[in-house]
Amino acid sequence: MGIPIIIIVLLGLVAILCFRAAMVKKPQLPASTHPVHPDIDVTRVADHLSRVVQKQTISNTDLSRVNWTPYQEFVDLLVESYPNVHRHLERETVNEYSLIYRWKGQAPDLKPVLLIAHSDVVPVEKSTADQWEHPPFSGVIADGFVWGRGTMDMKLHLISILEAIEALLADGFTPQRDIYLAFGHDEETRGELGASSMARLFAERGMTFDFVLDEGGCVTHGGFAFLNKPMAMVGIAEKGITSIRLTVEGTGGHASMPPRHTAVGVLAKVIADLEKQQFETRICAPVREQFERLGSELPFYLRLLTANLWLFGPLFKRLMARSNVGNAMLRTTTAATMIEGSMAHNVLPPRASAIVNFRLLPGETIADVLAHIKKIAGLPTMVIEPLMADDPSLVSPSDSDGFSRVENTIHRIFPGVLVTPYLVMGGTDARRYEPVCRNIYRFSPMLIEQSDLDRIHNVNERISLENIERSVQFFQTLIVDL
Ligand SMILES: [Zn+2]
Repeated sequence: MGIPIIIIVLLGLVAILCFRAAMVKKPQLPASTHPVHPDIDVTRVADHLSRVVQKQTISNTDLSRVNWTPYQEFVDLLVESYPNVHRHLERETVNEYSLIYRWKGQAPDLKPVLLIAHSDVVPVEKSTADQWEHPPFSGVIADGFVWGRGTMDMKLHLISILEAIEALLADGFTPQRDIYLAFGHDEETRGELGASSMARLFAERGMTFDFVLDEGGCVTHGGFAFLNKPMAMVGIAEKGITSIRLTVEGTGGHASMPPRHTAVGVLAKVIADLEKQQFETRICAPVREQFERLGSELPFYLRLLTANLWLFGPLFKRLMARSNVGNAMLRTTTAATMIEGSMAHNVLPPRASAIVNFRLLPGETIADVLAHIKKIAGLPTMVIEPLMADDPSLVSPSDSDGFSRVENTIHRIFPGVLVTPYLVMGGTDARRYEPVCRNIYRFSPMLIEQSDLDRIHNVNERISLENIERSVQFFQTLIVDL
């Protein structure tokens, strides 16, 4: 009696699946060469960082409540701290506190590169002020760190670019191509005065860039439980964001003789339905490319799945979506954040409203979110009102010359890390430059432990002296190679 044909087919299939998983390539880790300038005066850079942190460039969506004095002081401090930069580079001020610099290169036919950053920071929540180990705008240097709001997001990144250029100018260096810098001053409130205005200026002048580098990813350790090496994540796209207000009318009146469902009850069901029936999961290009790059660094079971997504796609998505991080990588997320009903405990709500925040996967639009709400929970009388809306960014290629330059520089400054494309979950200024560039990357050269990532926009934000050194080395090395 022979082996049943079905067993032979199944064994053949298993062999093919395992073969594909075994053939997954090892991520390329080039033999690391050294940074261009190994010697950085870290104490001096830390002092500069401390001083820019002390300028309280605090953002506010209500522009009339912004104190603009520290913004001007910030600009003045840059002029004072980086004399070579301000002697040799052309500088243009946009909407008073945003800055464009041009460092003229030797070869005018080469496309320029644009390095961007922002000088504003988010406010410090009053109720958390006493949880800071050092006052948030003191810029204290202690225990191997510079402490304060903006150290990670993103004053170190901003001054590292200037430190690098300052030192290269002192060495008599001139770049091959033109290097432009664009420092916005309202990134935390969507960048209309800064990034959007500067991008429009570039577009009006008919300029395009070889690539743009902004914040967005960094080097982290322990983000994926299955990976035991640090991973440098270079953002090639960012999710869209919208907050939608849902309002339901009620009858009002005394709570002693209520209708079966008050406006709050009706709205609660809407939110429960939206939480229950989430957007479909989908493996978008940045996530697929990230797993492809990790290749043979993945444990075998994950390689088996990712190398055979045609068969295991649904299983892979189900496994990933179990964690909040994995879920956010795979779908447009739904987060009910605010709800409001009656003003008193014994009064029926004449209306109830809630705000739901959605983070959109590349390829989906705000119109898709509105259609989703109507389909899942649309009531004829419910008012659906987008409060703010940014569609997802475009996806930049991870096989461009610009990506390779960033990647190679990472390997030189952070030997042994894995470099992957990445989908940025938050919003940055980078997307504003889409009209003038198709290769937009998001990476800050800092190695941040997973537990320290929570300090961004939070209490006890700080950056280590090692990261300060790496950050300046990164930009020096990158610029010399452009
Ligand atoms: Zn930022």
